[in-house]
Amino acid sequence: MDGKVYLIGAGPGDGGLMTLKGRALLDKADVVVYDRLVGPEVMAMIPESAEKIDVGKNAGNHPVPQNEINEILLDQAKAGKTVIRLKGGDPFVFGRGGEELELLYENGVDFEVVPGITSSIAAPAYGGIPVTHRDFCSSLHIITGHAKAGAELSIDFEALTRLGGTLVFMMSVSTVEKIADGLIKAGMDPEMPAAVVERGTTPAQRTFTAPLQRLSDTVRENGVRSPAVILVGKVCSLEDKFNWFARKPLLGKRVLVTQPAARSSKLAEGLRELGAETVMYPCIRTTPVRPLDIPETNIETGGRFDTIVFTSAEGVRSCCDWLLENGGDMRWFCCRKIACIGSATASALKDYGLIADFIPSEYSGKVLGEEMIKSGFVGADSNVLLLRTNAASHDVTDALSESDVTFTDYPVYETELIDQPPLDELGDIDYVTFTSRSCVEGFVRSQKKSDFTGMTALCIGRQTASLASEYGFDIEVSEEATIGSMLSKAVDLK
Ligand code: SAH
Repeated sequence: MDGKVYLIGAGPGDGGLMTLKGRALLDKADVVVYDRLVGPEVMAMIPESAEKIDVGKNAGNHPVPQNEINEILLDQAKAGKTVIRLKGGDPFVFGRGGEELELLYENGVDFEVVPGITSSIAAPAYGGIPVTHRDFCSSLHIITGHAKAGAELSIDFEALTRLGGTLVFMMSVSTVEKIADGLIKAGMDPEMPAAVVERGTTPAQRTFTAPLQRLSDTVRENGVRSPAVILVGKVCSLEDKFNWFARKPLLGKRVLVTQPAARSSKLAEGLRELGAETVMYPCIRTTPVRPLDIPETNIETGGRFDTIVFTSAEGVRSCCDWLLENGGDMRWFCCRKIACIGSATASALKDYGLIADFIPSEYSGKVLGEEMIKSGFVGADSNVLLLRTNAASHDVTDALSESDVTFTDYPVYETELIDQPPLDELGDIDYVTFTSRSCVEGFVRSQKKSDFTGMTALCIGRQTASLASEYGFDIEVSEEATIGSMLSKAVDLK
């Protein structure tokens, strides 16, 4: 049986602007045929199991001609596959989506279309320019400024000038001078507000405004390149007031995220929310240890231990999930005191209905050990169980040993460093984020060098920071050991 083709708009770049319907369909893809304008965040939504076919086009240089793309879609569908044809913006707004459906239609192949958010409206919106406004215009026109090789632009400038609406020109960076001249010759006020939004909705977005007669100079002087939309009309004067995206504190910053992929979303999302471009580079992988053979305990009870210590949310999840997977429950902790290294660990514990009895004043294994002893939370008559990773540091246990506290250190999850290909362009990164010592180790090992002088590392706690500083990083430490606090620190750094 034939497969089916879904022609899906991927939106203008910001992954959050992909539709829910498009995203859900991606999960079902056998093959994804995509081009250059599909943003990296949407690309990251493609399941690993799907085959990816790049038919990316560059202006004036078409690596895969349109008729071949049409054939690819047909062949894949004829092979019985679920084919996603992913296109930047909306597939029908200068997207040649119509042409791609013709061949499918002629061959009786089933298809569906999922519209996308078009850059012609979204890029201006992120640039602070509403494409219509009652006080300024009563129509909106989307025009291609692309001329066939050697041919003149075929735009009716008189008609556009007479209509007085907002004009959005796509594919027009190289023809902006002709467009501005054409409009002015047709009688448009040379002082008409105009703008260009380059790489709209992405962290690299740039917006410039100028009166129409200065527009092409502005484009040239700032080295504006495709993809960009050119806007002409009174609404462009609103950019001054409404340029909300340009005010994001981390706009233009490139930040490396080294957390394990599954855990990185909160930090990465927060950074992106603040305008930063995130480079995802997971340096460690954590896996729960199974089965948990904690000495002298069983699924019903934590045995003779009177105090349980967690130093990470992973540890909490591994232990509590193990109980639940095996018919146990949180009564395992009954009558035992629980200490957590910081608020994020305590909050993971709370998800299972348990409240930490002890959190040290600083997110550090050393301080945790010292303060548990100093406050009398544990003493020589205690029997402590530490549920941590195989790669845990000695800080807590050294403090306990020094005070003759009896303890058992049991790994409930394993931390593995991931061998990533070294990054070529470390110089383009404004800072690296480290949420654990293992992330520092994994990062350093992948880079195949050990001196990072001149690079800034934003670290979650002092222990992580002190390891990073051993490798020469300039270090910044968040006030608290939470993602929120790391984000505040990132904003302070700028
Ligand atoms: N179907 C797409 C447009 C494809 S034509 C859509 O609906 O958005 C390619 C043109 O789209 C580019 O030359 C540029 O003018 C515009 N474009 C695409 N992505 C853009 C972006 N992120 N910012 C500004 N313009 C963009």
